[in-house]
Amino acid sequence: MPDHTDFLKLTSRDPLSLDALYAAHGERGFANPAWEGAVSRVLIVRLSPFRDVERSTPHEFLFREARAAMPGAYLDFSFFPTLRDRSVLGRAGVPWMHGVASRRGAVDFDVVLVSNSYTLELVNLAPFLAASGLPPSRSERDRSASDGSARYPLIVLGGSNAMASAAAYDDASGDSLVDAVYFGEGEGSVGRLVAGLASASREGADGRLAGLASLTREVVGFWPTAIRLTVAQAKARPDAYPVGAPPVIAGEEAGTSRLEITRGCPSFCSFCFEGWERKPFRERPLGDVIAEALRLKAGTGADTVELASYNFNAHSDVVAVIRELHKAFWAVSFQSQRVDILARSPGLVRYEVAAGKRSFTVGVEGVSARARAYFSKELAEADLRAVLERIVREGAREIKLFYILSGFEDAGDMAEFSAFVGWLRALLGALPSPPRVMFSAGELIRMPFTPLAYESLILDEAPFAVVRARFDAAVAGAGFESRAPERFDEYCLSQVLALAPPGSYGLLLAMAARGYVYDRALSRGAWEFARAWLDERGILSGAFMGEKPRDYPFPYPFLTPVASREHVYRRFLDVKESRERTTCLGGDCAGCGACSDADVSGVSERAFLAAHRLDEASERDLRELEAVVAAKRKPYEAWVGAALSREAACAPPAYAAASFRKALYAAVPALVDTVWTAEDAFLKSKAGLERLPGAWGDTVYRVLSSAPIATSVLEAAGYVVLESAPVPERLFLELRLPGASIAEAVRLVADFLNASAIPHTLRKEASGSAFVVSDKGRKKGNVLEARVALGDDGAVVGLVCGRKYDVSMLIAAVAKRRLAFDLRAALADDGRAAG
Ligand code: SF4
Repeated sequence: MPDHTDFLKLTSRDPLSLDALYAAHGERGFANPAWEGAVSRVLIVRLSPFRDVERSTPHEFLFREARAAMPGAYLDFSFFPTLRDRSVLGRAGVPWMHGVASRRGAVDFDVVLVSNSYTLELVNLAPFLAASGLPPSRSERDRSASDGSARYPLIVLGGSNAMASAAAYDDASGDSLVDAVYFGEGEGSVGRLVAGLASASREGADGRLAGLASLTREVVGFWPTAIRLTVAQAKARPDAYPVGAPPVIAGEEAGTSRLEITRGCPSFCSFCFEGWERKPFRERPLGDVIAEALRLKAGTGADTVELASYNFNAHSDVVAVIRELHKAFWAVSFQSQRVDILARSPGLVRYEVAAGKRSFTVGVEGVSARARAYFSKELAEADLRAVLERIVREGAREIKLFYILSGFEDAGDMAEFSAFVGWLRALLGALPSPPRVMFSAGELIRMPFTPLAYESLILDEAPFAVVRARFDAAVAGAGFESRAPERFDEYCLSQVLALAPPGSYGLLLAMAARGYVYDRALSRGAWEFARAWLDERGILSGAFMGEKPRDYPFPYPFLTPVASREHVYRRFLDVKESRERTTCLGGDCAGCGACSDADVSGVSERAFLAAHRLDEASERDLRELEAVVAAKRKPYEAWVGAALSREAACAPPAYAAASFRKALYAAVPALVDTVWTAEDAFLKSKAGLERLPGAWGDTVYRVLSSAPIATSVLEAAGYVVLESAPVPERLFLELRLPGASIAEAVRLVADFLNASAIPHTLRKEASGSAFVVSDKGRKKGNVLEARVALGDDGAVVGLVCGRKYDVSMLIAAVAKRRLAFDLRAALADDGRAAG
């Protein structure tokens, strides 16, 4: 059982992008039991690097579900390594897929849960497994289990791309990259599933299969790839939400909680995978939303909440949701909303601006009315213009307009688009400081289980190039910016993998063997290789490329989606005839099949949708929200002393601050209602990071609240309350240099003092050396005294600094020599710094 702790901890090796995570989360991180004593070990894996997924929640969701079901399990996270990390890990023989807390490779876990968010991530799966000591194919892993030569974890894939993951499965042979797939919403099911998987993983080969088979009877949506059976896509009960707090991961996003206030989509856009795969639209009652938000705040120390729903503005209480969240959080941000709802709820734009929203993303999708009808977008040009006028009038700083190019746009469509762009230019032209406007246009990927899956495919660039050239010319002609969300080769590979023609599984293995990955961009040459590979085998046949009939054998034919295939096909026929169908939100049921008529929480899903009304923001709502926001400009302020741990010092300030707030709420639960935020005012402040890089020890937090906090309350909880921000007359620093000699440390300090023009003399002492700083040097207010002595594992430098403390140059010199170091700061003399 290899343990890569030493390598991953080592500070003298090349840096890794996850160093802050390794440092902050020790073996007992994420409330884990000791590795050896854990009832089971589960690795939650993202197929993209941490920097690209830390703003998303699937790994947190899996953690919450699994933790609630298995308090005694060891739960850990693994992220696809960046290019540099892949190289460093590969050279050192450390598996790419390893836990950031345990530092154990994936082979040491019982269960590996792979979260697949989008189609191109599938390219990473086989190389990720192979570079982690896991044979990429299930058959190979099974063979090893049968002959007893090796035992591997059960690997299960789920996530928002699960329904488009068929390329990871070979229907002809039944082989697969993973042992099982989970289709659909996991709320209320994943915990039970993971517990069952952990139990099955302990069995021999036959017992494992029997265990997986038995789970198919218990958990809707679960499909072991070795078993052919019909599977229904899982749909969570309206009241099923994860319980328990998500883990606080040591990244930039540690201070933000993401909150689902609605689930699913009420619209029927013909291209949209999420819109069809997440049905029906459901919403969480206002009281539950606020209670959950406060639980998240207490459990994570978050000071920002993000509404992480596809269509947050469809919530029938969205106005109250935003207001109440603003009362509890320092900031409220919104992810994604529908423009047609903004058009139908006129006060919402103004209300959102009052709530702090300055950047608006508008999914227009179609370049013309005809194109929008093809996409079933339900967005008339008059409504689009009205919404944009409102956004501009309310003072937005940025507007992003998103389009999809089908490749079928003609000159008439593009002329309409040019006219629209010209209108927008004229609208903004009158403004002294207009918002920045960005246009984005990506090629349409025909996703499975959507109406446009039946549409013919275009993998040649020529038709798109014509449309794109006109698009870019219109945008540039009006002085706006435009960009493409992905390269054309990335679109092509996405398109093929999403509809997964027979042979796609072999393609993924062949691409892995050539070292192709997707890491912010697809490896150059990957699509050319894939295209040649597919052409050699005649896979891009007319049947696959052309328009598809009702009975076309799409992948995952055994899967029953929440929205019926029959309905989806009928919508395709509608689209072909330019027949747009309206949402069922507050209207008639279109019979997609997603709703249950069972009375789950007082009203059936269908009845809820029929009775739904969009929310409006009145003048009174606006005044109330403005009052809450205005109060944040003059918050109550308290200064609280705290200890910044060595581990948190390595992480971004957001993590340290969230950890402080979480501890504060645990010590004084009533403060969850009144504290808006608390930020480090010393070690992790901008100045602290610059002048005392990497320091841990005494620090001070500035606590901002909606009501005064009694000093006695904080003191009773063990906090030291200060009167103001720290401006230390004396700062005591201890710099430990493990492995460094006294002579080396003396040289470093002398060079630093000389470079800082601090005159000094060096004096030998019994225990080491002392630097006597001249009066002129002391007047600079930086280093007042310095000593070097020998500690347990190397040289120790003690520094006493004045108000203008700044050891950044000393730390830079230490880092340049690739010496490990540990810098501790104390606001009071504890006898260490002066030696
Ligand atoms: S079943 Fe009817 S009401 Fe429910 S989501 Fe589908 S169309 Fe809407």
